[in-house]
Amino acid sequence: MSADILTVTDLKKYFVIGQSGLLKREPITVKAVDGVSFAVREGETFGLVGESGSGKSTVAYTVVGMYRPTAGTITFRGQNPFANKTRPLALKKEIQIVYQDPGSSLNPRRSIKEIIELPLRIHRPDENRIEQVVRLLEMVELPPDYMYKYPRMLGGGEKQMVAIARALATNPSFVILDEPTSALDVSIQGKIINLLIRLQKEFHLSYLFITHDLSLMRNVASRVAIMYLGKICEVAETAEFFRNPYHPYTQMLLSSIPVVSEEEEKLKPQKIISTGEIPSPVNIPSGCSFHLRCPARMDICSRVDPVMIEVEKGHTVRCHLYARASESIPPSEQ
Ligand code: SF4
Repeated sequence: MSADILTVTDLKKYFVIGQSGLLKREPITVKAVDGVSFAVREGETFGLVGESGSGKSTVAYTVVGMYRPTAGTITFRGQNPFANKTRPLALKKEIQIVYQDPGSSLNPRRSIKEIIELPLRIHRPDENRIEQVVRLLEMVELPPDYMYKYPRMLGGGEKQMVAIARALATNPSFVILDEPTSALDVSIQGKIINLLIRLQKEFHLSYLFITHDLSLMRNVASRVAIMYLGKICEVAETAEFFRNPYHPYTQMLLSSIPVVSEEEEKLKPQKIISTGEIPSPVNIPSGCSFHLRCPARMDICSRVDPVMIEVEKGHTVRCHLYARASESIPPSEQ
C-alpha cells in the first residue's frame, strides 16, 4: 500500500456570518467543516462526496490554502502548510486545484498563453516558457496554436483542459479536483475524466476529487468518503463502499442513483426515503446531525453525536447503529 501524501486531522473551519442577540454581540457561526479527518495515499484518487452545503468544497479550499483552519491539522509530505503565516512556495507548487467552472476561473482578458505562463513565471522562472506552454497544451490534448486564443473563443471542455494545463504548470504531485466536470455537457464529461485518469498515471498524481456525483466515483476513486453537514459519516474502499454501504445517509444516496440495467438495480440498496428537510448549517441539530432525516433513528441519536467506528478493515462509519464502545476510533485516527 502507498504512503499517505496528505493527512487531514480533526479539521474545523468555522465562519462568523453575523451577530445576534439584543446587543448584537453573539456571533452567528456556520460550522462548514467540523472535525474532518482523512488521508490521501500517493497516486490514489480519494473521492469526497456530499450534497451542496456539506462542506466538501470548504475542505478543498482549506487544503489548498485559501482558508486557514479554525482548528485541526493538515500535513502534506510530513509538512504543515500552516506552520507559518505564509505558505511555503514549495508547497504552493506541489498542491494545485482545478475549479468547477472553467469559465470563471480563467481571466477573460488574458490569452491562453498568458494564463498558463503565469504559474511558470512564479514557479519555474528559468525555463523556456513558450516551450513549456506548448508542452502543457499537448499534455491536455490541445493544439499549440490555442495559446493565441482567449477563453471566450473556447468551448467548456476546452476551457477546463486549459485550467488543467495551468494546474499542471507547476509540476504538482497533488491536485484537488473540485467538481471538475459538473459544469460541462455530458458529452464532454467523459473526455475530461479520461484525460484526468491518463495524466494521473503518466505523472503519478494524487487526486482529492470533490463531487456530488456518487456514480462518477465508482469509476475514478480508489476510496470514497461521504460528507454530511460538515462531517464525514462513512469512508471505504470504492468496491466495498458500493457493495456494502452502512450509514443510512449513504444508503439513501446510493438508492437514488439512476441505473440502466436490471443487474445494477439488484445491487442498489432498497429505496430509502428520508424524512424532514436538510437542516441549515447555521443551526445544526444536536446529536447525530442526520437524525431529523434518518429512517433508522433511535432515542440516543438526537442526544449523542456518534463517533467513527471501523466496521470492516478500512471501512469506517459514524452511526450509533454500529456503535460498540470498545471499537470507537479517536478523532486523530478517523
Ligand atoms: Fe441514523 Fe442514528 Fe445512525 Fe444518525 S446515528 S445515521 S440518526 S441511526
